[in-house]
Amino acid sequence: MVGVPPHMHIMNGPYTNISLEAMPSSGHRKGMAQPSQMHIALSERAKTLPGSAIRALLSSARSNVALDLGGGIPEPDLFPGPLLVDVFSHLIATDAAQALQYAPTEGLLPLRARIAQRLQQRGCSVTPEQVIITHGSQQALAAAAALLTSPTEPVALELPVYPGARQAFALAEAPSVPLPVTEQGWEMAALKRARVAVIYVNPSYQNPTGRSANIEQRRLLAEYAEATETFVVEDDAYGELGFDAAPTRPILADAPTRGILVGTFSKTLCPGLRVGWIVVPRGLVEPLVRILQASSLQPGTLTQHLAFGLLERLDWQAHLGRLRCCYQTRAFALHARCHELGLHAAAPKGGFFLWVRTRGAASRVAAVAAAHGVLTVPERAFQHSVDAGPDRHLRLAFSRFRDIPGDLEKLATALGSGSVL
Ligand code: PMP
Repeated sequence: MVGVPPHMHIMNGPYTNISLEAMPSSGHRKGMAQPSQMHIALSERAKTLPGSAIRALLSSARSNVALDLGGGIPEPDLFPGPLLVDVFSHLIATDAAQALQYAPTEGLLPLRARIAQRLQQRGCSVTPEQVIITHGSQQALAAAAALLTSPTEPVALELPVYPGARQAFALAEAPSVPLPVTEQGWEMAALKRARVAVIYVNPSYQNPTGRSANIEQRRLLAEYAEATETFVVEDDAYGELGFDAAPTRPILADAPTRGILVGTFSKTLCPGLRVGWIVVPRGLVEPLVRILQASSLQPGTLTQHLAFGLLERLDWQAHLGRLRCCYQTRAFALHARCHELGLHAAAPKGGFFLWVRTRGAASRVAAVAAAHGVLTVPERAFQHSVDAGPDRHLRLAFSRFRDIPGDLEKLATALGSGSVL
């Protein structure tokens, strides 16, 4: 918008005109009458792209927060801060010329090799060349969507769905088909009814339900993908955060030609690094790299070096053990509190979320809770279209729940009071 006069009407081009509130930074000169609207042409994509309902909900309720069960945010005390200082100092002292320089679009090979090695330990036959580093796994999702979908190539999205995935595929203007996630697993019949180009799933400790697909369901989906030549984009954000299970076997392990896995260090190291990855079959590496070049040239060199330095120094299993122990304690505490309040949720097994059943409309419960300073996210935020669909669950993030005395009362007042439950 810089340099565009606030009153300017852009009338040409294929786009219809819409009005935007004038930005405070545009044309604020003393004594000038300020038009309150400016007209600007946007692409269809920009006009229809949904914003994150969760980010909007949580930022509008930010003041007066007594208990934040809203955002799926890692515990900052678990960030490897002191170690990061060491890694950073050593890196700048010994290798600044490389660590601060441009680097390949694909990412740093030693980091890619580490990620491949961990996936091999989980049953996948993956080479480092198939692992491409991205700016968080959100960029990986957007790149997968740009690579495989279009207005004529639909995607099957889980329902309820992680809203970031919905946004990523909406950016590629892919029509979506619902793939219901039930207590028994994915409703595979929904896939058979509608032919899609891609299936997006979050099979381990799903955001938002916390549910996981069992081995048999994963195998069936992999078989379906291979038999029908449909790509499966498997979001593995919480795959290593099961409380007592060994990390799950990815779908990728049984779908060598159709499996795509998206992962991240956001939940296991820290999200501020913005280091994620995408694993694709060999034939997709080159077109994927072109898409990533066009959108960001390369992932951050410095943050990749930092992530690699952390991995070199951490005992990964012990590190994961600490995270799992902390999140399990919190999950069990919040689950117990919910139980005391008569709220039903399946016992948590990993990840960050409880999926709590409400008796009344969940969006109303969330609004009452927010008025009491308790942040939660209603089921509606995880629909394909935010204004419609079932509204009977709240997503509660236990990742930062400390079970401080008095929090039970806040929860009780917010969730148990009145007739909303
Ligand atoms: N997938 C899922 C299921 C998530 O919950 C998140 C973070 N909320 C992401 C992907 C994106 O994480 P990041 O971009 O930080 O890697």
